[in-house]
Amino acid sequence: MLETAHHHIRSTGKKLGLKTEQIEKLLEVEAAHEFEIVLDSGKKFKAYRMQHNSARGPYKGGIRFHHEVDRDEVRALATLMSFKTAAVDLPLGGGKGGVSVDPKTLSEQELEELARKYVQYLEKHIGPHKDVPAPDVNTNPKIIDWMVDEYARLSGDTTRATFTGKSLENGGSAGRDAATGRGGVIVLRELQKLAKKPGEKLRIAVQGYGNVGSFFAEVAEVEHPEWQLVAATDSSGGIYVEEGMSATDLSEWKKNRKPLAEFNFGKRISNQELIGLDVDVLILAALGGVVTDGNQKQIKAKYILELANGPVDDSAEEGLASHGVTVVPDILANAGGVIVSYLEWLQNLADEHWSVEDVNEKLNNYLVQATKDIYSRAQQDDSTLKEAAFAVAMERIIAASRA
Ligand code: NAD
Repeated sequence: MLETAHHHIRSTGKKLGLKTEQIEKLLEVEAAHEFEIVLDSGKKFKAYRMQHNSARGPYKGGIRFHHEVDRDEVRALATLMSFKTAAVDLPLGGGKGGVSVDPKTLSEQELEELARKYVQYLEKHIGPHKDVPAPDVNTNPKIIDWMVDEYARLSGDTTRATFTGKSLENGGSAGRDAATGRGGVIVLRELQKLAKKPGEKLRIAVQGYGNVGSFFAEVAEVEHPEWQLVAATDSSGGIYVEEGMSATDLSEWKKNRKPLAEFNFGKRISNQELIGLDVDVLILAALGGVVTDGNQKQIKAKYILELANGPVDDSAEEGLASHGVTVVPDILANAGGVIVSYLEWLQNLADEHWSVEDVNEKLNNYLVQATKDIYSRAQQDDSTLKEAAFAVAMERIIAASRA
């Protein structure tokens, strides 16, 4: 992931005519915090917070608890956050944190201790105008609430604006849970308009029917009845239904923690089969590195929406472009989450609480503008949307650094 991020930054920097030193500076993180958390039980875990770039505003990015977390992964994700916040024009920078832990091996009490000790180490390096973390893989509003409490206890800060993704009762924002999926719907709708095909019927397959994938499908079902959800998978595999199926029914099934491969309707398919389905749009909402040079030729979809981070490997990009597949890049397609995090931060700083309608309208406005900016840039440069998104973001970061 780090190599892919660096590849995009280097090639964009060269196209924009940046000096080698300027490009190399963008590859570095401004500050790297690496430490060990020792629980009272004696269990030890490596922990990280990488602060990549703050030229446009405070560092912003999640904290993940996962056994595969390492320095390079956190650094790559922090770098991508700087480009994501700039691509959608938020006055924020990029950061990321993580602890190398399998949270399933911890008791609830140990999980709370881990969250609080993470904050104890970083208290001096984060803050409403320095670095504003959020939840990520395996972290949730409950864990963030513990972190907020610990930060308030240590620093005396009562704004709760040092973290986003809090529970609603503790200063979280309405609309945050659905924001990333909803953002994907907005971006796809806007691209249809820009391609002069508004309201066109689309057959859609979703890989990764989790939080992001299910909200995408549920919002699409309400706002775009002309789009048809024909396939969905989770880690168990999934189902294909030629005439389309109800996202509400699928979500109900998943709420009961049942695997999609056991859904009582449709034809069983594997995740590999899903990728090669004859659909218009492939939604990738599970993992990174799913489409590679090895399997890109199977893809028949016209659009791939990267709702996960980096699901299309850079080795696949040229092949996909040459057979007319448009990849909608993660730094645009899944930016809905960070946009509503930004809105949460604004609400906390102003001591306000906005309605879900207000939040969704603001989210919509940011993504309509960002999609337009990136689409126009791709037309102007005759480039892919990914190249255009990186170019738009990099110019904004460089301009802010100069200022
Ligand atoms: P989640 O855990 O709720 O859902 C992930 C889904 O993917 C689950 O249904 C899981 O069963 C499925 N899955 C796992 N392995 C799979 C495989 N090999 N094939 C098919 N499906 C598989 O997570 P989420 O919050 O929905 O996040 C999904 C992705 O989106 C992650 O990569 C995350 O980093 C990224 N993302 C999330 C947000 C957010 O706001 N939650 C924002 C930006 C990016």
